[in-house]
Amino acid sequence: MDLADRERRLARAEALVRDLADRGVVAVATSFVDNAGISRVKSVPLDRLPSLAAWGVGFSTAFDYFRFDDWVAAPPDGSAPVGDQRIVPDLDRLVVLAAQPGWAWAPGDRFAQTGDPYPLDSRLLLARLVDDLARRQISVLSAIEIEWVVSEAGEEYVPAASGPAYGLTRLTNVSEYCRDVLAALAEEGVRVEQFHPEYAAGQLELSVAPESPVYAADTSVLVRSTIRAVGVRHGLRTSYSPKVDAAGVGNGGHVHLSLGRDERNLMAGGSGRFGLTEEATAFAGGILEHLPALLAIGAPSVASYLRLVPQHWAGAYACWGLENREAALRMVTGSQGSEEWAANLEVKCFDLHANPYLMLAGLLAAGTAGLDAGASLPEPVDVDPAALGDEALAERGILRLPGSLRESTDAFAADTVVGAAFGAALVDAVRAVRESELELFANATAEEVAAASRWAH
Ligand code: GLU
Ligand code: MG
Repeated sequence: MDLADRERRLARAEALVRDLADRGVVAVATSFVDNAGISRVKSVPLDRLPSLAAWGVGFSTAFDYFRFDDWVAAPPDGSAPVGDQRIVPDLDRLVVLAAQPGWAWAPGDRFAQTGDPYPLDSRLLLARLVDDLARRQISVLSAIEIEWVVSEAGEEYVPAASGPAYGLTRLTNVSEYCRDVLAALAEEGVRVEQFHPEYAAGQLELSVAPESPVYAADTSVLVRSTIRAVGVRHGLRTSYSPKVDAAGVGNGGHVHLSLGRDERNLMAGGSGRFGLTEEATAFAGGILEHLPALLAIGAPSVASYLRLVPQHWAGAYACWGLENREAALRMVTGSQGSEEWAANLEVKCFDLHANPYLMLAGLLAAGTAGLDAGASLPEPVDVDPAALGDEALAERGILRLPGSLRESTDAFAADTVVGAAFGAALVDAVRAVRESELELFANATAEEVAAASRWAH
């Protein structure tokens, strides 16, 4: 970012200020997501927006080493408190927040004080990987599903929405809250596609329309923040934790992906299984191959592995299958006749402790490696893998995905493809945060992990 860029940003923000003031905006927040999946924020009064847009606002470089509970897992060389980076809002994504009157928000990109992109910034990393695919004339559409639970206020988890799984009763019991969530998202321009009560008590889910990956990750941050804000107004507490309650069902953060070229969906109309094109097959094959390492990004906490168990529709097996909710990769074709716009791949094993930018960056890096290698997919699995039994699983080469953060962190450390895409500095920071969380919970029970991880994200 040079001086001319800064001038352009300044002028653009100046032009926005009056309209934002007319809409009651008093302050603008900009945030980035750290390696533990926490959104970290700075804000300015509205009249400072032009300065924020041109010069950003400072953040310590130590934030790449922050653990979910704010412990700093910094390297022992004493560098943590030294250095600064600037977070600069993306004005194209500025939104007036519907459930926080007076506030606007924009996702931020991080730059070094030189104006160069900050090498550990996950939003810029994702944008680069999207550009790499664009050079192959491949576009990507993505959406991240959101499952959450609402609880009565307080430290304990007390489900605030009662009634059966997927039950109309549950919707009725929290009808006004649900209406306010949907109304706020509509006001913010979020295109919600579906909303329903999920399996567990207090659990709800919504899905949004697919967008380009960076925007899909932005939307995921915005939607979560909006849901939380509506909850606050209703005196409710929100948790996106993969395991809110050790004994209950988890919250997933399933990722939908499709590739396109010239308005054509590469996930449909091809000669491969279920209509996949050769390129889509190779891309999916790359993802499947790298899933154990990607779990350190997409299921990044100790709590993630309390959720990622067989027979919970979390996708605990490294396999794929048509509409198979126990496969880590679920192929979705849509109904006959809708394949061209509906076909996509759902990555089920990820959850919302993940940094969505990093998670999508990992998927694109692995998929791109699959394209380079001309990767293939194994035989799809058309049954719950757990029902096959150990012998048949071994015979068919269907493996369990890592069952712990230890295993996925080791796979991540050993994965040179994902490592090369992320860069050494980012890999080191991610590993430090994961190691630190492993140390924190080394002797903890599942209940203790669930309780400690419940409210941070
Ligand atoms: N809650 C499940 C999970 O942990 C997913 C249920 C579903 O398929 O929507 O991922
Ligand atoms: Mg669901």
